[in-house]
Amino acid sequence: MTDGPGAADSNGSLRLLLIGPPGAGKGTQAARLSEAYGIPAVSTGDIFRENVKEGTELGVKAKEYMDAGHYVPDSLTNELVRDRLSQPDVADGFLLDGYPRTLQQVEELDDILGVNAASLDAVVVLTADTDEVVQRLLKRSAEQGRSDDTDEVIRRRLDVYAEQTAPLIDVYAQRGLLIEVDGLGAIDEVTGRIIAALASR
Ligand code: ADP
Repeated sequence: MTDGPGAADSNGSLRLLLIGPPGAGKGTQAARLSEAYGIPAVSTGDIFRENVKEGTELGVKAKEYMDAGHYVPDSLTNELVRDRLSQPDVADGFLLDGYPRTLQQVEELDDILGVNAASLDAVVVLTADTDEVVQRLLKRSAEQGRSDDTDEVIRRRLDVYAEQTAPLIDVYAQRGLLIEVDGLGAIDEVTGRIIAALASR
């Protein structure tokens, strides 16, 4: 088997983070990258939504924050990710979609991964301008009826992203891990851009 563009390193592991504002297309791209690189995509948003649907204790707690457009508290989110990343399927790589989103979560992830044992390979930031993401989210709201895709909650989620998550971009840039990719355009095009950017690291 030949290695594809941006294939995993020699020990076969690829550890990626995907960051971007709501509506940038993280979930869509995460699924494609997961397939392209053969690594599990772990989406904290999806895990929270599953818990809400199943009515678990975590779901009941998370729902009130999500519906208001706020982040679920770090304590709950960190515990969930620590548990998920202890499972065997992520030992050989993973793509984290939507985590970390706060500086405290960055520290927690550093701690979970350990300094040397399992560091990150790259942090992909999907960029998209505000008008475009609002349009996309309103469209998704009409199609899927997600309870946090209403006009007011969308605005709040964008503000929270700008306040709490955008600062992470500098942190990972300083570590030399950042790959910024334009999230506008056709889905395939965006996937192609990410794969090309990862290959030319
Ligand atoms: P989006 O980024 O498009 O808003 P997600 O599905 O990634 O959608 O997340 C939906 C919601 O789940 C967030 O608004 C937040 O309430 C919660 N959430 C997901 N990931 C995190 C996280 N890392 N920290 C705190 N809350 C989170």
